[in-house]
Amino acid sequence: MIPFVTIPAKARGRAAATGTAPMSAGRVSGAVILSTWDFGAAANAAAFARLRSGGTLIDAVEAGGMVPEADPTNHSVGYAGYPDRDGHVTLDAVIMDDAGGVGAVAALENTVHAISVARRVMERTPHTLLVGEGATRFARDQGFPQQSLLTPDSEKAWRDWLKTAKYQPEANSENRITRTPGGALDHDTIGLLARTADGRMAGACTTSGMAFKMRGRVGDSPQVGSGLYVEAGVGGATSTGLGEEVTRVAGSARVVASMRAGATPQQACEEVVRHIAKLRGDAIRGVQVGFLALDTKGNVGAFCLLPGFTYAVTDAQGTTTVLKARSLFQA
Ligand code: ASP
Repeated sequence: MIPFVTIPAKARGRAAATGTAPMSAGRVSGAVILSTWDFGAAANAAAFARLRSGGTLIDAVEAGGMVPEADPTNHSVGYAGYPDRDGHVTLDAVIMDDAGGVGAVAALENTVHAISVARRVMERTPHTLLVGEGATRFARDQGFPQQSLLTPDSEKAWRDWLKTAKYQPEANSENRITRTPGGALDHDTIGLLARTADGRMAGACTTSGMAFKMRGRVGDSPQVGSGLYVEAGVGGATSTGLGEEVTRVAGSARVVASMRAGATPQQACEEVVRHIAKLRGDAIRGVQVGFLALDTKGNVGAFCLLPGFTYAVTDAQGTTTVLKARSLFQA
């Protein structure tokens, strides 16, 4: 792990800098929030502030996921996400606690906060996953405003893509656009894991999925056990990158299973990435897949196929550090 940015308290954004409720040391002293990519820092700040103001872990991971969902400069999560090949922005999200609570949506349209709709699925339906038209109708029924998610920027990117369109599901399109850490397009799915000092955990994952995907395509992110998994007494894991490569091995559940068997979070992340590489051989050349893991004691793991995967860690004091994950391959 190579730290390259430590975010000072003052720059950590509205959430961490101006929390209104007094900090409840008992509640957050052991809390660690972990999320994918450099933009996870702002999400962590929102999640940390929610915990600090007395919110639950589910409140915290939802608040974190909502940050990139509303960010018009982030083209891989929520509003302004790149559309599918037919021009529709479709969102996938899952939220999960460590007591069997799960809610997810896939192919949700015209709704900014997919993670909040996923939470409603968990809390207000007997189901764990709603998809497509049904998910969108549920969002309307629950009072989430209808809003087009396609912005002029993302529409232009899609129209540019159409000029030379060659559908290549084997590549992680976001990762190919730029590898510049912190660059405007250095974005991907957000997966968040959070814990409290007593070892309770929750997680969330939200995305607009692979840019210019086939209509109807759903990646790893909203699928429990693939894009996210949390287990009481063990820990949690989340993934980013080309979802098909994660889904085929139920990647996050595999990471947690390794941890349950005694692996550290780092060992568990490395194991699943090596497994994918061995299983897929040449088929994953040039493809990015990354995993994060957090155990109930606050130990962190991160590993990926290719260089470029960054993640944000927030400690119990609310200090956030962005780190580069080690990778299996060098390029
Ligand atoms: N994992 C997500 C998906 O495949 C998107 C990504 O992280 O690139 O839908």
